[in-house]
Amino acid sequence: MSRSQTNSASLYDRAARVIPGGVNSPVRAFQAVGGEPLFIREGDGAEIVDADGNSYIDYVGSWGPLILGHRPPVVVEALRGVLERGTSFGAPTDIEVEMAELICEVVPSVEMVRMVNSGTEACMTSLRLARGVTGRDHVIKFNGCYHGHSDGLLVEAGSGVATFGISGSPGVPGDVARCTASIEFNDLDLLRRTVDGIGPGKVAAVILEPVPGNMGLVPPAEGFLQGVRDLCTEHGILLIFDEVMTGFRVALGGAQERFGITPDLSTYSKVIGGGLPVGAFGGRAELMSQLAPAGPVYQAGTLSGNPLAMTAGLATLRHLRDTDPYDGLEDLGRRWVEGMRSAAASAGVPATVAHCGSMVGMFFHPGPVRSYAEARQTDTELFQRYFRGMLDEGIYLAPSAFEAGFLSTRHTEEMVDRTVEAAGRVLGRIS
Ligand SMILES: *Cc1c(COP(=O)(O)O)cnc(C)c1O
Repeated sequence: MSRSQTNSASLYDRAARVIPGGVNSPVRAFQAVGGEPLFIREGDGAEIVDADGNSYIDYVGSWGPLILGHRPPVVVEALRGVLERGTSFGAPTDIEVEMAELICEVVPSVEMVRMVNSGTEACMTSLRLARGVTGRDHVIKFNGCYHGHSDGLLVEAGSGVATFGISGSPGVPGDVARCTASIEFNDLDLLRRTVDGIGPGKVAAVILEPVPGNMGLVPPAEGFLQGVRDLCTEHGILLIFDEVMTGFRVALGGAQERFGITPDLSTYSKVIGGGLPVGAFGGRAELMSQLAPAGPVYQAGTLSGNPLAMTAGLATLRHLRDTDPYDGLEDLGRRWVEGMRSAAASAGVPATVAHCGSMVGMFFHPGPVRSYAEARQTDTELFQRYFRGMLDEGIYLAPSAFEAGFLSTRHTEEMVDRTVEAAGRVLGRIS
């Protein structure tokens, strides 16, 4: 079964003439899987429809935000309501106060929060704050963790940078890159040696994805996060949890709640925007008070705290808090893992399959996969064929072997079972 994609193809032709690479974010271009991107016309619940009218079960979920699926009624209705008031004032509103109160209520380590417009901004500014507060320049990140595309964080980054094998990027000044050390994830000893190597009183922050999802899904090893926390405390280094993907997803209070670790600063985006562009970062009041205008570390944004974005995010977070869907999402994630494991085994394909709540991932590699170095051993060529086969089966996966998949409250057991059956057929055919 091959689906007609003529409308997507002609839109892509037009796009490629006026938008670099035809897309506004690199992994969307399908370069890593061959072929051309699908243009999406609409979505509802767990399903999307492309420009040619083909429908798919969607495991991308806009790359993480759509934990309630496409067009959840609570969000759509809230947006309709706020449109009656206006779209932007550049002045404070009640909505952003409620948003900040709700975040502080469900994330105990966050006593104050600043709203921004993307995860990139949240991570970039949390580093500036960490440097400003500590008076230190150096930061340590982990290979394959993606923290947005600001200069100092593109070193050995995941997501599109992993997909395209770009180590850093032209345009990042050497002096900036030199202040970022990037090391393998899940290796506490290496972190200790790196801190010692940079020298006492020099490292401002360690930033990490507590459950990396931008090199495929790589869960933290037992004790790793606590070990990082202890090391940071010992050296006066601020620990930044990038919860852009995990926040309000792997638990209401994010990975820090799930693993019982208290970071100094946390960054958010994706789920907290409910499908609109939102980012945020927060932490202890004493640290956050160093931000302008309360303190000297500068940060600003014309559309920050925008009423539409705040409304969509607030409706999403309230719904998550009030309905507590996390046990159900956990079960669904487990069902996905067990199904995919047996589908791969039946087809004789070596695979490492994992989930953390509603984040799921599969490497075509016998494992273990604990780091970016190990993630990169996945069979990307097999993934390409798998991806195309699944698309023909009506299953829309992230077009890269180095991305997590996302379940939503609108995915059903029946959909997961259908997906597993499709995977069994596809893997049987291509392996
Ligand atoms: C997506 C992502 C970012 C970047 O967020 P943008 O809104 O795309 O700038 C940062 N960190 C993590 C962990 C992410 O998954």
